[in-house]
Amino acid sequence: MDLNDSPEQAAYRERVRSWLEEHKGEAPVLHGEGAITDEDEIVAARRAWQGRLAEAGLAGVTWPNEFGGQGLGPIEQVIVNQEISRAGVPGILDAIGVGMLGPTIIAHGTEEQKTRYLAPLLHGDEVWCQLFSEPAAGSDLAGIQTRARQEDDGSWVLNGQKVWTTNAQFASYGLLLARTDAEVPKHKGLTMFIVPMDAQGVTIRGLRQISGEAEFNEVFFDDVKLPADAVCGEVNGGWGTALTTLMFERVTIGLGSEGMGYRSDRFAHAIAADPEARADGEVRHQLGEITTELLAIKFSGYRTLTALQRGQIPGPEAGLAKVTLVNAAIKAGDLIADVLGPEALAEPGEWSYMISFLPGLKSAGGTEEILRNTIGERVLGLPPEPRLDKGVPFSELRAKEREAVAS
Ligand SMILES: Cc1cc2nc3c(=O)[nH]c(=O)nc-3n(C[C@H](O)[C@H](O)[C@H](O)COP(=O)(O)OP(=O)(O)OC[C@H]3O[C@@H](n4cnc5c(N)ncnc54)[C@H](O)[C@@H]3O)c2cc1C
Repeated sequence: MDLNDSPEQAAYRERVRSWLEEHKGEAPVLHGEGAITDEDEIVAARRAWQGRLAEAGLAGVTWPNEFGGQGLGPIEQVIVNQEISRAGVPGILDAIGVGMLGPTIIAHGTEEQKTRYLAPLLHGDEVWCQLFSEPAAGSDLAGIQTRARQEDDGSWVLNGQKVWTTNAQFASYGLLLARTDAEVPKHKGLTMFIVPMDAQGVTIRGLRQISGEAEFNEVFFDDVKLPADAVCGEVNGGWGTALTTLMFERVTIGLGSEGMGYRSDRFAHAIAADPEARADGEVRHQLGEITTELLAIKFSGYRTLTALQRGQIPGPEAGLAKVTLVNAAIKAGDLIADVLGPEALAEPGEWSYMISFLPGLKSAGGTEEILRNTIGERVLGLPPEPRLDKGVPFSELRAKEREAVAS
């Protein structure tokens, strides 16, 4: 996104750029010559770099000052993302913690929780993970089955399983959504908890992806004991807390796309290097289409930024940017693979990671179908999908679904 910087923003950009210029030698090298390959070393180096960025005010840009942030707006966050991308250095390791979970604690946590958890999170001393999705509850998040039972002394006992938990393998804490009352409709009996990942009864198993990384995990909870003050937000008010996280997730993905390098000039550069492809009318046509879509996202991104800068919450239309961005980048990857041939998938290579990682991004942060449904219903005013679960206690839902299938 080329922002038309105001004089203040231009001065801010200059300060960010010169700090990165001066300190980029301290950033870990993750690709190409001299890159770190050991996974533990990568995590340690990225945590340390996050600490340096936080000290310089380049992490938690939009967090309030009282919690170690800069109290600035989303435009400054985008400026930081752009300059980090321009400097060719990694961004923060814990984008989920800083972008989504920390802001949820700021909005719903107790004063003790904010004092205890926020500073180590921001500085990368304690990484966090998001324990929401389950094997039978992803798009239908309110259908989760992990349950927490309250004991007479107010403490809780947690049992269940989560899946697709990014970064759980090195996280210190997780923000976990659990069912605390099954006798009310599914959105009403949920509670959010702060869970230490080294608590007794927590088991973490890695899942390796086609991109070669093992950034996701399955996480199992067997009689995990949590104190009464592990609740974040209201008991049985967890859906509202979860919606805050999901709202920040949408904003983080939207504002972070800059740093992912899905830019038409970069794609064009790869294609133009091949003289035959450069002269091929069909290749040029396809590249034109991809560029047009990326241009449309750029302008809808301006609208989201304007809404955020005015303190508004971006509406469901922000989901359209994610659907369009991911599809345009997938088309670009396909085109580059057609032009370069098998070389495009060579490891380590500029394109192999993007091509193998992108299909997963179709699901992360809301699947394409769900986002399209939301846009259809809430932006275009189309009739809503039929719902079987309205007003039905969670404990009776499965029986209702079975009845519907049988009839
Ligand atoms: C890269 C990545 C990182 C992730 N990180 C985390 C994380 O850190 N923490 C976490 O909790 N989760 C994480 N997830 C999980 C992610 O939130 C889920 O994958 C997502 O919500 C979809 O859920 P699901 O995979 O269970 O698919 P499902 O909900 O089972 O969907 C399967 C398919 O059915 C379609 N579908 C489902 N319902 C409908 C409907 N009503 N109408 C039309 N189509 C429908 C979906 O669009 C999809 O194509 C991550 C996922 C990815 C890919």
